[in-house]
Formats: sequence, C-alpha cells, structure tokens
Amino acid sequence: DREVDNASTLGLLKMAELGEFDVAVPDYIGLHAYQESGGYQVLDRVRANELTFDMLVETLGDAGLRGLGGAGFPAGKKWGFVKGYPGPRLMTINGDEGEPGTFKDRYYLESDPHRMFEGAIIAAHAVEAERIYLYMRDEYPAVLEILRAEIAALEDGGIIDKGFIELRRGAGAYICGEESAMIESIEGKRGLPRHRPPYIAEVGLFGRPTLNHNVETLWWIRDIVENGPQWFAEQGKPDHPGIRSWSVSGRVKEPGVKLAPAGITVRELIDEYCGGMADGLVFKAYLPGGASGGVLPASMDDIPLDFGDSLFQHGAFVGSHAVVILSDQDNIKDVVINLINFFAHESCGQCTPCRGGTEKLSKLLRKSGNLDEETIRDLEQVMRDASICGLGQAAPNPVNHLLTHFREDL
Ligand code: SF4
Repeated sequence: DREVDNASTLGLLKMAELGEFDVAVPDYIGLHAYQESGGYQVLDRVRANELTFDMLVETLGDAGLRGLGGAGFPAGKKWGFVKGYPGPRLMTINGDEGEPGTFKDRYYLESDPHRMFEGAIIAAHAVEAERIYLYMRDEYPAVLEILRAEIAALEDGGIIDKGFIELRRGAGAYICGEESAMIESIEGKRGLPRHRPPYIAEVGLFGRPTLNHNVETLWWIRDIVENGPQWFAEQGKPDHPGIRSWSVSGRVKEPGVKLAPAGITVRELIDEYCGGMADGLVFKAYLPGGASGGVLPASMDDIPLDFGDSLFQHGAFVGSHAVVILSDQDNIKDVVINLINFFAHESCGQCTPCRGGTEKLSKLLRKSGNLDEETIRDLEQVMRDASICGLGQAAPNPVNHLLTHFREDL
C-alpha cells in the first residue's frame, strides 16, 4: 500500500507480512475494561454538547496542556486556529516517535491505548475533522497490532464509523516525525518537510486544514476534562504547569518512563526518580531533549527542564522530554560525532545547508589533529539560518555545546 525504496526495509516488511515475526503483544487495557472504568463518558458529554468547543479550549488552556511531541505549542490554541479555517478539515496523530531516547508514546499505547483514542475523537469532534489519520512507526509491531485490534473494536462498538480512523505505517525515516513531512508521507509522497507558511492548520493533509497532535498530548485530554484543569496544572513546578512523561535512559540505575513535574531539574530526575547514577559512575553530562536538544554538562544540573527560556538561553531544548544521562566513562566528542552522524543519515537532503552541513560537520569532527573551529562555527551558523526545517536548524546544537562546555574531551 505504499512505495518502499529501501531493499532491506522491503525485506523486513515481507517477513512481517509472511508472519515470520512473532509479535509479543503485552497485556493492555482493551475497550471493555476501559469503558468499565468510565472510558468514553467524556466523549459522550462532548457529543451531547454538554462540553462545548469553547469550554474544552478554555479547559486545555487553564491546564497548560502543550504539544508533547516536542514543539510545545499550546494544544487549545491549535484547536482554535484549525477551527478558524473553513472546512472540510482533517486530523492527524503523530505516532512516529523517532527522536532518539523517546519511548513514552509506546509505553502508553502498549498499556492504555483508548485514553489516546478518546482524546483523539474528542479533538476531532471539537474541530469538526472528517477523518483521523494515525501515523505509527513500523518499529513498534506490538503497538500496530494493538491499534489494529482496537480501531476495529471501536468500529464494532459503534463508537466511530468504519474508516473514521485510518492507520498508516511509517517506514523508519526520522524526518517523517516532522509534521509536514509526515503529511507528505501520508499522502504517499517522499517525506520532505514543507516550506511554511502556510502552516498545516490552514493547508495540511490533502490541502485541508489539519489538526495534528502527538500521541501523549491526546492521552491527557480525558483526565484533564474529568479531573479539571487545575489537577493537571498543579502537578508542575512553580511557573511550569503540568505533569510530563520523561523517557530517561543512559547511565542511571532505573531508566524508564517517569511521570514527573514539568520544570524538574535533571538532578532531581536522577536522584528522586531513577535511583541515582548506575553503580560506580559519576554524572558528567546530559541530553535534555533527545538528539536535537543539545548536550549540557553536569555543572548545569539545576536548570528547570521545560519548554521556554530556561533551556533555550543555553541553546538547548526539552523537546519530547527524552533525557539521556552520560557519565565520566563517556567521551562527549564521541557522543556528539554519533549524534551528527545520525543527523547526516536522517537528513532528507532537500536543502544544502543541512544535507552538506551535517556531512561536513561529521568529517571535521572526525579529522585527526586540531579542530578547524572557525569552519565549524561558520557551518553552525549557516545551518541554523538557512535550513528549511528543525532537523538542520538543531543539528549543530550538540557541536556548539561540545566546543563550549567539553573542551577537555576534544
Ligand atoms: Fe531536509 Fe534537513 Fe532541509 Fe529539513 S533541514 S528539509 S531534513 S535537508
């Protein structure tokens, strides 16, 4: 049902289609159990117009719910933009979860998928979207099994019309997590990010106004409406409303998905949620937001981790809340080369600053002898200023941090 231009990917798909993969589907909360715990009652209230569009937007605004795929755009505001453009409208769900170190969406979909579905159907109803396209990464075979089964259960149960939610499989490209590239991919084209404006709220999937949300953003909607916006907002640190799902990995004793306040510091995350550093290792550095959020030294362990200025002023960001902890056993130059090679591999190649810049940065960093810092700094600036999308704009972040904070590792 789509073109695949990579022979190895095609091979894997064929194996999957032939049933050669034994997909272990974990125990999860199915439709019946979800309904027994009050599931889909908020949707019923929305459909009965007991909860109006304005009430929902105000609730999300008061809760401080933001796009948790990485961009952090206020969710309710997005609904207002999309609804403001004449229909027909569509909705997309971004389940690509390709940012290295991020695994929270998988965790939620493998345990309680209907909480996401209920949020999605509420959002689609609110903006009067005709259809939902759910774009899911193919590297999550158990999630795909669950989604197929539960979309069918929603149809059989009369909660949605047949075909209202269409499942689309990604083919492993990191760039297809970027919303406009994802839309191109759903349309059956190469996943190349679009120039903006126009933004997808106005001209999105198949040229229609489109509401796009990450899985986790939708996952919170039922709870926020049921418990009230203050319930959500008050779980954050002062001036940082909301609770977040942190994907913590690396050199800690207990990595995993941690529910912790927005605005928490990395030191608190390590000590209070991850059982401290792994035995014998000393905290040296951290990636606050996956591959693209930069790499900061342990001396900056007291920065509130959230969207906004606290990290941005250091050239870093929290993105999808994937925190990778590094230790005194890790050489940060090696880490940064690894990250740049990742970006070079995943660059879609559409624009020269990113296509050429990532390759060139990798070469310059791997060259023996003294680093050509002047050229590196120059490239960094060109990539930030002239790349079309966030991949090329953010790729130099870890290089910048390497030169600024980790000179002993050069
Ligand atoms: Fe493609 Fe990179 Fe340009 Fe984004 S910045 S459009 S990934 S080449």
